Amino acid sequence: MNTITLTVLGSTGSIGSNTLDVVSRHPERFRIFALTASSQVEAMLDQCRAFAPRYAVMSRPDAAQALAQRVKAEGLAVEVLAGEEALCEVSAHADVQVVMAAIVGAAGLAPSLAAARAGKRLLLANKEAIVVGGSMFMQAVREGGGVLLPIDSEHSAVFQSLPEDPSTWSHRVNKIILTASGGPFRTRDPKTLSQVTPQEACAHPNWSMGRKISVDSATMMNKALEVIEAHHLFALAPEQIEVVIHPQSVIHSMVEFRDRSVVAQLGTPDMRVPIAYGLSWPERIESGAQGLDFPTLKALTFESPNPERFPGLGLAWQALAGPLGTTAVLNAANEVAVAAFLDRGMRFDRIHAVNEQTLAAVLPKVTGGVDELMALDADARRVAESCVSQWVR
Ligand code: NAD
Ligand code: MG
Repeated sequence: MNTITLTVLGSTGSIGSNTLDVVSRHPERFRIFALTASSQVEAMLDQCRAFAPRYAVMSRPDAAQALAQRVKAEGLAVEVLAGEEALCEVSAHADVQVVMAAIVGAAGLAPSLAAARAGKRLLLANKEAIVVGGSMFMQAVREGGGVLLPIDSEHSAVFQSLPEDPSTWSHRVNKIILTASGGPFRTRDPKTLSQVTPQEACAHPNWSMGRKISVDSATMMNKALEVIEAHHLFALAPEQIEVVIHPQSVIHSMVEFRDRSVVAQLGTPDMRVPIAYGLSWPERIESGAQGLDFPTLKALTFESPNPERFPGLGLAWQALAGPLGTTAVLNAANEVAVAAFLDRGMRFDRIHAVNEQTLAAVLPKVTGGVDELMALDADARRVAESCVSQWVR
């Protein structure tokens, strides 16, 4: 078996460390080419000791400097690089075959795009990259000649439920049904959402994840981003995408075909399953996850999302109906709003207000080039910032 070389973007995060967990179960199959993070020097040093990558990239120069000193002191054979350009280099490098895109936010767009353009097998966890990049991103994948495999559990479930030949999808598929756990506030009185603390919002009942996606799950903006992601990944019309709350997180999503037959993918809520599938596709390898134990499973239940409790979900279809670039505006607003909630004490229910106000204030006029989209992202962040400043300093 030939060894597969892998770059993990965002290796110190939740998806990144789960990826390295799967990789460590198959030392004969994978070799780490590069690891990247923003500022977590200690975690990166541990990963360099364990996986001996050729490169370690820290997007923050001060962190890169600190890591370089530690790497030198320990005599590790790792070259430390800094900045966004280096992220793109280790994603597009000729010696890399597979890139796991697990940076959080639009910051992951450039390196993910670099991997797509270079024709790598791109394992996409970083949903914000596709929400911002949209059809331009999908075109880069096609032109690069590589493959894009979804890592988001819902999209992996849909991908696993679809026929292998993508050219059959448009005439066979009626719709897809994305499941949502409903997060920590599924049954909370909507009137009390103004008092939610960051700790409560990050305490997800079924999944352990990074802070930003945890807050997105609590607002259901995560599902809104996933609707946009599904629209691009599977070339479906927005009205062919449905969301249903399924609190047990056993069914990870479903496909309804023309004849009304529904195919679903099930499993324990463990991100190592979609990660292992992306790493080994079309083969299957050991992931480390527990199997489902059907006799002990409780009932599988379903409900509609309550728009009063989760007003953000509808913004997905609103943004998809808007001019090109509107989903990038929504994403930028949400990133600013979530950061203001987590780090600056902005009220939880104001996240939606920031998103709505920014969407209303920024009318994108773009043709879809990456520079234009990044400029639009910056504009939307400025507008969202001024919304936030009504409430916090
Ligand atoms: P996380 O916060 O745990 O990790 C993020 C990683 O990205 C870290 O390594 C961090 O150092 C790096 N990073 C952060 N900001 C950066 C920047 N500006 N430039 C370069 N690197 C930066 O996040 P996560 O939960 O692992 O999520 C990563 C992505 O995967 C997100 O887009 C998220 O929506 C998606 N995702 C996560 C899960 C999950 O279970 N955690 C599930 C599905 C999808
Ligand atoms: Mg998901």
